[in-house]
Amino acid sequence: MIYTDTRDSSVSVDFKTAVLNGMNPQTGGLYMPVEIPLLNKAFLGKTPEPSFRDVAYESAKLFVEGEINDSNLQSIIADAYPFNAQVVPLDPVSYVLELFHGPTCAFKDFGARFMARVMSYFNRDENTPLHILVATSGDTGSAVGSAFHNVPGLDVTILYPEGKISKLQEKQLSTFTGNVRALRVKGNFDDCQRLVKTAFTDKELRQKFRLSSANSINISRLLPQSFYYTYASLVVKNRSPRDNKIENPSIIAVVPSGNFGNLTSGLIAKEMGAPISGFVAATNANRTVPDWIATGKYTPRASVQTLSNAMDVGSPSNYERIRHMYSLEEVRSLFASYWLDDKGTMDAIKSCHSRTGYIIDPHGSVAWKAWDDIRRNGMENLMGGLSGNINEPGLTPSIPDWASSIIEKRAVGILLETAHPSKFGDTVLKAIGREPSMPDRLEKVLALPDNSIPMTSTYTDFRQWLMDNLE
Ligand SMILES: *Cc1c(COP(=O)(O)O)cnc(C)c1O
Repeated sequence: MIYTDTRDSSVSVDFKTAVLNGMNPQTGGLYMPVEIPLLNKAFLGKTPEPSFRDVAYESAKLFVEGEINDSNLQSIIADAYPFNAQVVPLDPVSYVLELFHGPTCAFKDFGARFMARVMSYFNRDENTPLHILVATSGDTGSAVGSAFHNVPGLDVTILYPEGKISKLQEKQLSTFTGNVRALRVKGNFDDCQRLVKTAFTDKELRQKFRLSSANSINISRLLPQSFYYTYASLVVKNRSPRDNKIENPSIIAVVPSGNFGNLTSGLIAKEMGAPISGFVAATNANRTVPDWIATGKYTPRASVQTLSNAMDVGSPSNYERIRHMYSLEEVRSLFASYWLDDKGTMDAIKSCHSRTGYIIDPHGSVAWKAWDDIRRNGMENLMGGLSGNINEPGLTPSIPDWASSIIEKRAVGILLETAHPSKFGDTVLKAIGREPSMPDRLEKVLALPDNSIPMTSTYTDFRQWLMDNLE
């Protein structure tokens, strides 16, 4: 597969180059496959549906052809995914897609684990390690650290702002050993990012060490997220006639979004042939994309802090990829959009629990509320001309092509649950009066010793530390 770039269509590189560069250093653009390959129809039509790993393998094959052979790809997939994405019915026409069964209990494990193994594969003939530097404000760091832990040929240094992330997140980051370590920086997230960026432009440092990033814009984190969309849509398509008597349902993926990587992966799955009719772009008060869909004007802005903090992004990087794939009109025909404030998020955790018994996290709850409003009467009102006010939380005034499937009751929702609720125990406790139980793998982390290394926010200190400690 050939990869091009969102800013310059004359760019043409192989998968390895796209993965190791992360972002195109010449243009600042993001890599995309020149065309989205189609999955085999017979494969998509199998009953019962293929397993998650089979979907992962068949999909990944199309993106790495000629660069990673079949048996190596099989091992990469097996090693990356000892866990599954799970489809859990909430009511006859709503399914939660649980993406938190990986080691760090958030969906970022799916992308990070594939990326780590692919990078290790591409580094296999080198005799020096590839050094990954990553600045994190929370979930990304733990997913990356865990994904790269003990992966041969790779060495990871994570920078996080001391005291500015949740206790559990800090614990997840500070307890790595071996080839992964965390520096707790006296400063904020921007300081961490500045240190990493400065290191990447430091010629002398780069001559001494082979450096790479594990940024969320890396194409090798985006492609594997398409696997669970394809898998879940096949499961739901097969289950639907039994659960709700709808043959060939209009399947809508409702995606709690921040940087819009997850949603972009859904678009890739749809283009590959997954039976998905449309999407709901669901955000918190960082509503840059809903505003764009409503008004046609794209205005990135500073982020505001919310209860669903992993979605606090005011200038989503993957907007550039969405625009590379579709025109505004196409986006409007495919997406409904929705935003929710913190009060609505609390109410949503509570009403989801009281109505279905399911304990949802503050990110997934935004998706749940969006879907609930859409099928109650949100879409009907919109179609009847009762358009919403974009400054109030709720459905954005833009009607997708699939709107009639809601009114005709042919639609089924897949709501992406991006993190385990116990990662946000305090918020959930406030909403429903009890704390969700914690999976063993998180509980265990709490008991591990803190190995984090103190660091100032001064570049010369960081540089000296790298010089003294990296191999
Ligand atoms: C990162 C994250 C999101 C947002 O995903 P994007 O790909 O940035 O849109 C949502 N929920 C959780 C729990 C996350 O960690």
